[in-house]
Amino acid sequence: MTAITLRRVRIRLTGVVQGVGMRPFLSRLATELDLAGVVRNGPEGVTVEIEGTDTRVQRFVERLGREAPPLARLERMSMVDQAPTGAFGFRIEPTDRVGRALVAVPPDTAVCDDCVTELFDPDDRRYRHAFVSCTNCGPRFTIIDAAPYDRATTTMARFRMCAQCAQEYSDPSDRRFHAQPIACPDCGPRLRYVGGETAGGTDASIRAAQRALAAGSVVAVKGQGGYHLAVDARNDAAVQRLRDRKHRPDKPFAVMVRDLATAALLAELSEVEIDALQASSRPVVLVLSRPSASIAPSVSNGSPLTGILLPATPVHHLLFHDGGPDVLVMTSANAVGDPICHDDATVADRLRDIADAFLTHDLVIRFPCDDSVVRVVAGRVLPIRRSRGYAPLAVRLPTNVAPVLAMGGDMKGACCIAEARQASLSQHLGNLEHVAAADAASDVASALSYLHGVDPEVVAIDRHPDYVSSRLGRARAGSRRVTTVQHHHAHLAALLAEHEVEVDASVIGMVFDGTGYGDDGTVWGGEILVGGIRHVERWGHLRPVPLPGGTAAIVHPWRAARAHLRHAGVEHPDDFLDPEAATARDRAVLDRMLDRSVGCVVSSSMGRLFDAVASILGLRHSISYEAQAAIDLEHLAERAKDGPELRFTFAARGEFDAGPVVAAVARLHRMGVDRADLALAFHRAVAGVVVDAALRIRTETRIGVVGLTGGVFQNALLSELAERNLTDVGFEVLVHQLVPPNDGGLALGQAVVAGLPPRIGVR
Ligand code: ZN
Ligand code: ZN
Ligand code: FE
Repeated sequence: MTAITLRRVRIRLTGVVQGVGMRPFLSRLATELDLAGVVRNGPEGVTVEIEGTDTRVQRFVERLGREAPPLARLERMSMVDQAPTGAFGFRIEPTDRVGRALVAVPPDTAVCDDCVTELFDPDDRRYRHAFVSCTNCGPRFTIIDAAPYDRATTTMARFRMCAQCAQEYSDPSDRRFHAQPIACPDCGPRLRYVGGETAGGTDASIRAAQRALAAGSVVAVKGQGGYHLAVDARNDAAVQRLRDRKHRPDKPFAVMVRDLATAALLAELSEVEIDALQASSRPVVLVLSRPSASIAPSVSNGSPLTGILLPATPVHHLLFHDGGPDVLVMTSANAVGDPICHDDATVADRLRDIADAFLTHDLVIRFPCDDSVVRVVAGRVLPIRRSRGYAPLAVRLPTNVAPVLAMGGDMKGACCIAEARQASLSQHLGNLEHVAAADAASDVASALSYLHGVDPEVVAIDRHPDYVSSRLGRARAGSRRVTTVQHHHAHLAALLAEHEVEVDASVIGMVFDGTGYGDDGTVWGGEILVGGIRHVERWGHLRPVPLPGGTAAIVHPWRAARAHLRHAGVEHPDDFLDPEAATARDRAVLDRMLDRSVGCVVSSSMGRLFDAVASILGLRHSISYEAQAAIDLEHLAERAKDGPELRFTFAARGEFDAGPVVAAVARLHRMGVDRADLALAFHRAVAGVVVDAALRIRTETRIGVVGLTGGVFQNALLSELAERNLTDVGFEVLVHQLVPPNDGGLALGQAVVAGLPPRIGVR
């Protein structure tokens, strides 16, 4: 008889490992393999000790890697042998609160299929329970008060578990073993409807909301992360009423559909789009809508793109069932630029003039999170906005950084905290020029610090002297070091960080966006950078054009068009402007500004060039939401059959000139060449200059990697053309997959640049 040797190992797991059912999973696995031991949540992740025969210990480790819960993201696993203790049984130890919390905070997750099945099973004790959730689903970040994530540190703490829930919570074989938001109809939060009638309890509240929606009312629905405004998407008058009340004349509304089959009626969906819709993060997916889609025309108002999402919470599922609608407009309940409404105390007041009724409940939302938005580009999911379902977004960095807080930009506020090799990017916060958004940014900057236990030594901000985010950062910094990071360098660094590119590696960065403060004090935005996280050089850029300054130039693409037409030497710019779009006086004033260079800023903005071309082609001379003209231009180009070949010319120093392209577009448009073909020709020309520049740089430097970033690369057509052309000539191309290419990703880049330790011997 051989003696059995026992082995005991301590395994530390880091990454997204808390609040995702890791401890219950480990407990089940250990019990199944007949291993003794203990598991605990600690400030640095999950620690598990197991003891048993060597084979079983090995099997445990193998299966841990393979079968970890679906929401877990294991970043690191370290194993140390311990002396066996001869213990029996496996237990979950109470949470260890000592030390620093570097652990990732879990994001919220849409209700899972198992829970939806229970929701509609009359024999289940959670039948029609509006707060059904389990270890695989439910709210997380939006209800967390402190780390580590545990029942007591969430806003669920005030709901005392009933005996049955407590039993499930402590039963290792139960799906709700240690599910922090566990609840049931006896002990969980309660739905309430407040409108013309007031109703309590699930059934009465849901039925009242369904009746109101059917009657065309605007109902504010409290979900995970905040309130949505819902109206029947098939009722044009109701949708129009919501537009009027929200002062949102054009921007398409997202719609929530009952199920995938309904989504398929609205848009032709690719496999990747279907997967994106069903993702547990449950984002809004921007898709090309079918012209025949039978929803109210005022939902997307002529935009070819429709944002669709599937139900995310049990309340949504209940609303769509038993006589409910099949498509609802679901838009964040807020004024444009403000963060989403989430606070019950103020919501009635803030939405007084917008919502007719409220479908609400008594679970407190600690952190507001808007819907996330993605778009499928070149067969991959491109993040446009990272919020509910992703935030806080854990990103593994290519290098160790000092504890740093990065404040991001203004237009799409999002901040980031980082230390060592981990960064955490906040949810979308709105436009920081709005007081409510700036307040949210301050709150979230603090929260990221305490939730992750990081006390920043450095505060990173954009170099723009007047950014609200920069001012907030300086104010927070106190005696800490403040580091400014150039806008386009931050964009490129964000892209490189998410791809874990080494900090001293050099790439070719095509950074195209609307506006970013340049090192020479002018507005940059058509930038070709060479370098990487540590250091970049501005190799080239779009030849600067004096643009009439201020927001007016952004809101009125005809102004950018006029500036570009003049720069290109095109005569009679009035030919390209609908007389309705601007008064004779407005034009004269603008021309005088351009003549005398008064009130103009010199700018290499690529975003404004897209606006200008859209206006020259007569698509849109004024806009009511960001990038509206550029989006129209992209979709016009999608309808093109073919187009002439247009080329930017290169001057010395890598400067490329849009003049010849603008002049050609204007001339051909005047001659009656198809507008769609010209729109396509313009996109091809921009993709062409990307390849031309990359080839020149490769000849000079032998660099073979190109990164595409900046808000302009949300343009799917441009991204696809550029990527294909670059790949054809042998470049490796990096595009965003974790953070948005727009300013929503800026903070990650700032954090990694500012957190870099200085190189030894270099100052
Ligand atoms: Zn579930
Ligand atoms: Zn209960
Ligand atoms: Fe930008």
